[in-house]
Amino acid sequence: MEDTHSINPIATLRPHHALCVLFFEGKGYSQAFVENMTAFLVDPSRQCQITAGCDILCMACPNNVNGQCSDEAKVALFDQRALSLTGAHFQADQPMPLYELCQSVCDAILQQGLLAEVCGECEWATLCQGKWRRGDFNRQLLYSDPTSSHPSV
Ligand code: SF4
Repeated sequence: MEDTHSINPIATLRPHHALCVLFFEGKGYSQAFVENMTAFLVDPSRQCQITAGCDILCMACPNNVNGQCSDEAKVALFDQRALSLTGAHFQADQPMPLYELCQSVCDAILQQGLLAEVCGECEWATLCQGKWRRGDFNRQLLYSDPTSSHPSV
C-alpha cells in the first residue's frame, strides 16, 4: 500500500481493535457505532496512537459509559493479549498508520492461528473466525495481502 500522509488528525486505537477492523462488515453495537467505524476505515493511512482505554471507535459505542467500556475487564484482556503477541511494534510511543497496525496483528496473530487466543470470548468471535477461515476480511487495511494459506483459528 502506498504510504500517503493522512490529512486526518491522529486517532487513538485500542490494540485489539486492529483485529476488529479487519473483520468489520457493517454490523455493530448501534447505527452510530457502524457509521463511526465505517468513516474511520475510509483512510487506512490514518495515523493511530495505541491507547489503553477508550479510543476513536469506542467514542460512538453504546457500551462506552462515561469514557469507560462497560466490559472493560474483558476488552482490557483482549488488548493485553494483542500487545503481548505483537511485541515492541505495538508498544512504540510513535503513532503509526492504521494499515501498519493491521499488518502487525495479521502477521503476529492471524497468520499464526492465534485469533481465538486473543478474543475467543467476544460475542463476535465466531463471525470473525469464520471470516478469517474463508479469507473474507478487509484486505485494503493491509499493505501485504496474505494470499498464502490461512491457519485455522
Ligand atoms: S465494546 Fe467497549 S471496547 Fe468495544 S468499542 Fe464498545 S466501548 Fe470500545
